[in-house]
Amino acid sequence: ASKERGTNRYAFYSREMRGEIQQKTILINGLYRALEKQELLLYYQPQVDILTGRITGVEALIRWNHPGLGMVQPSVFIPLAEQSGLIHSIGEWVLRTACEQNKRWQDIGLPPIRVAVNLSPEQFKNPKLVAIVKNVLEDTRLPPQYLELEITESVAVKEAETVIRSLRQLKELGVSIAIDDFGSEYSSLGRLRSMPVDRIKMAMCLIQDLPTTPKDEAIAKAILYLARNIGVRVVAEGVETEQQLEFLTRWSCREVQGFYFYRPMPAEKVEEILRQGQ
Ligand code: C2E
Ligand code: MG
Ligand code: MG
Ligand code: MG
Repeated sequence: ASKERGTNRYAFYSREMRGEIQQKTILINGLYRALEKQELLLYYQPQVDILTGRITGVEALIRWNHPGLGMVQPSVFIPLAEQSGLIHSIGEWVLRTACEQNKRWQDIGLPPIRVAVNLSPEQFKNPKLVAIVKNVLEDTRLPPQYLELEITESVAVKEAETVIRSLRQLKELGVSIAIDDFGSEYSSLGRLRSMPVDRIKMAMCLIQDLPTTPKDEAIAKAILYLARNIGVRVVAEGVETEQQLEFLTRWSCREVQGFYFYRPMPAEKVEEILRQGQ
């Protein structure tokens, strides 16, 4: 009986795995056509200055409106885009679309804000990355101070010459650099000082259990203290409750991004909010 169960179990896993691989293949095939079929779109999530209540920037977040599956989240398809190499064309599309959109908001007279674009670690392997960003800025005529590039902690802590050089060159273009999900993996607090970085985005996992978990409180306070003292700005990510906001305000975090204020939304909705002066 036990042998039989074993066999069944094996068959069960194998079928499930086959299903997963099939699903993955279907998604990758669809992703190849998604760009030209205009199934990709950007949502934007506002970042808010706690003191003034004003929107200072938005983060561009990609979505895939799949004909059969509906809205597919980036956590599902970005890894596939990275594995298949598609991340390079998708990444450039995101950059261009976000810059175009931000320039359009400025052109219709809305108060200028930053747009933040996520860069995959894969994109840093492309020697043309800096040239691409430069081109997009020139083509869209967005003043570079209104573009922020979000890099992952794993890219940031890598002391690879090529990464540091790219970051320096990007900063020379006039864009700002933010470290995304800071504190979620490595604690690169010490390295921050020597990194060409303007902002850190405090990871959602650090915010989640504030202010009831003493350890998380201590880490959040330490990050805020250190960032202030070395002149790096902080955005707290994933702020959902009034208690979290109170804690962050008390410890002088200036900016937040999270469902408490706004969820990611289509560009038209951002425009509406900016128009109303919030
Ligand atoms: P991320 O860059 O850390 O983006 C923040 C994620 O947290 C977004 O998820 C956002 O919807 C979510 N979020 C924001 N506030 C809250 C909150 O208060 N509560 C909760 N529970 N969640 C909140 P999203 O849009 O699903 O994106 C997931 C990840 O996918 C992003 O994490 C980023 O790593 C990646 N991603 C998104 N767009 C792009 C892109 O254009 N290029 C690349 N390379 N990666 C992207
Ligand atoms: Mg999501
Ligand atoms: Mg991000
Ligand atoms: Mg993040």
